[in-house]
Amino acid sequence: MRFGALEAGGTKMVCAVGNEDGKILERVSIPTEPPDTTMPKIYEYFCGKEIAALGIGCFGPIDLSRESKTYGYITTTSKLAWRQYNICGYLKEHLNVPIGFDTDVNGSMLGEATWGCAKGLDTAIYITVGTGVGVGVLAGGRLLHGMQHPEGGHILIPAREDDRYSGKCPYHGHCMEGLAAGPAIEERWGKKAETLADDEKVWELEAHYLAYAVTNYIMMLSPQKIILGGGVMHQEQLLPMVRSKVDKMLGGYIRTKELLDMNSYIVAPSLQDNQGIMGALKLGMEALDRAD
Ligand code: ADP
Ligand code: ZN
Repeated sequence: MRFGALEAGGTKMVCAVGNEDGKILERVSIPTEPPDTTMPKIYEYFCGKEIAALGIGCFGPIDLSRESKTYGYITTTSKLAWRQYNICGYLKEHLNVPIGFDTDVNGSMLGEATWGCAKGLDTAIYITVGTGVGVGVLAGGRLLHGMQHPEGGHILIPAREDDRYSGKCPYHGHCMEGLAAGPAIEERWGKKAETLADDEKVWELEAHYLAYAVTNYIMMLSPQKIILGGGVMHQEQLLPMVRSKVDKMLGGYIRTKELLDMNSYIVAPSLQDNQGIMGALKLGMEALDRAD
C-alpha cells in the first residue's frame, strides 16, 4: 500500500510517497510561498499517486481539537499568509483520502517511535532547535495532545546573569525559543549561528539554556529518551555539553538506569533526517486505520 506524507515547514514543503514499512519511495521539496501558490503544487504532486491516505506534520500552532470548527487549520502563525488557513480541508477536498494531522515535532517524535531510536518506549520527547524551538511528546506510547499540543519551546526560562539579551519571542521575550532558537543566537551575537562554530562562549551559553529546558522536561515528563534535532544541533559540540550540564542540574535527585548512560539518553535523531517525513507517513497510516 502507498501512503502520502507531507512535512509542512515554514521554508519548504516536503512531499513524499512511502509504504507501510516506512520506506520513502519518492519525494520532492516545494518552497513555502502563500497558500494560493503552494497548495496547488502539493495537490499536483500527490494527484494520481494512488495513495491510500495522507499524513501531515505541520508547522504551528495548529488546531488539533476534533470538536473545533477550525480543526485542521494552521492558526496563529507568524507567517501571515498562512494564518487561519485550512490546510487539511484543502487536501481533503482535492485528494479525498483519510488525512492524519499533527505538529511537525510530534511527527518527528512519531517517526522515531515507530522506526527509530524511541521504538518500543512508553515516554520520550523530541526537541527541535531551529528557526523556533518545538517539543513533541510521546506519553504512554502515544503522542500527547491535551488541549491542542504541547508548546514546550515556549517554557519560561530565566536569562543567565551574564546574558544581557532580552530575548526574541514576541509573546514572552526570554522563553526557551526567545533565548535559544537560531534567530536568537543570530541577534544576540550579531552573526548567523552557523558562522559562530569556533566561538566557545556562544555554545556554552546555548548548552546552558538547552540543558535548563531539558532538565525541566525530565522533571515534568520522566522521558525514557530525549532526542535533540534541528539546524542548531548541527553544532556537534552542543550535545556532549548539554548532557553534562543536565547531569549537574539534576543534582543527583533522580536515579534511574537511563540517566546512568547519558550518551544513549540524550541523543541526536536516528533516521538520517527522515524522522519528520517518516512520521508524517505514519500519521497517514493511522488516519487510514481510523478512516478519518
Ligand atoms: P527550520 O527550523 O526552519 O525547519 P532548521 O532546523 O534548519 O530549519 O533551522 C534553521 C536555523 O538553524 C537557523 O536559525 C540557522 O541559523 C540555524 N542553523 C542551521 N544550520 C546551522 C549550523 N550548522 N549551526 C548552527 N546553526 C545552524
Ligand atoms: Zn515564547
